Amino acid sequence: ETALDRALGLVREVPDFPEPGVLFRDLSPLLADRDGFRAVTDALAATVPAGVSTLVAVEARGFLFGAAMAAAHGYGVVPVRKPGKLPAVAHRATYALEYGTATLELPADVLRPGDRVVVVDDVLATGGTVEAAAGLVRRAGAEVAGVTVVIEIAALGGRARLAPHGVRSLITA
Ligand code: IMP
Repeated sequence: ETALDRALGLVREVPDFPEPGVLFRDLSPLLADRDGFRAVTDALAATVPAGVSTLVAVEARGFLFGAAMAAAHGYGVVPVRKPGKLPAVAHRATYALEYGTATLELPADVLRPGDRVVVVDDVLATGGTVEAAAGLVRRAGAEVAGVTVVIEIAALGGRARLAPHGVRSLITA
C-alpha cells in the first residue's frame, strides 16, 4: 500500500448527509493526518500541467487543498468565494443546485488575461460548482488549463460536463 492509497483510504463515507439518500464523502480524517495530507497534496500537485502558475481554489475545502499545493509546489492561489466575503469582486456566477441556486465570486484584479490556471476542489459531483468557477476564470480573460479534485463521483456526470477541461481526480467513486 502506498502512502497515497493509505491517505485516500482515510476518506469517510457518511450516509444520509446532508439529506436522506446522499452518501457524503468526509475528508476531515484525511486532512487531519500529517502524512496523508502531504501525500494527497503532492499527488494533486503532480496533475498540474506545465506553464500553470496559479491555482483557483473553491470555498471552502478547495482552499485547504489549493493553498497546500500552492505553498508546497510554488503556485499562487486565488480563492473563489461564496457571496458577501470579498471586498472587490471581478465577476459573479450564479448556478443551479438540485434545490435552489448558489453563487461564487472571483476577486478583482488578481487574474490577468492570458494566465493559465488550474481549478482545485475537494469533490466533483454534478460539476456545477467547478463549471461556475471555470466560467469566472474565463471571464477574467484567463485560461483553464485543468481541473483537479480529490474525489470524483462518476455517476453524477461532472467529468462529461467539464469535458473540454480534462478532469484529474485521485479517486473515482
Ligand atoms: P457539484 O457542484 O455538484 O459538483 O458539487 C461539488 C461541490 O459540493 C464541491 O464544492 C464539494 O465541496 C461539495 N460536495 C458535493 N458532494 C460532496 C461530498 O460528498 N463531500 C464533500 N463535499 C461535497
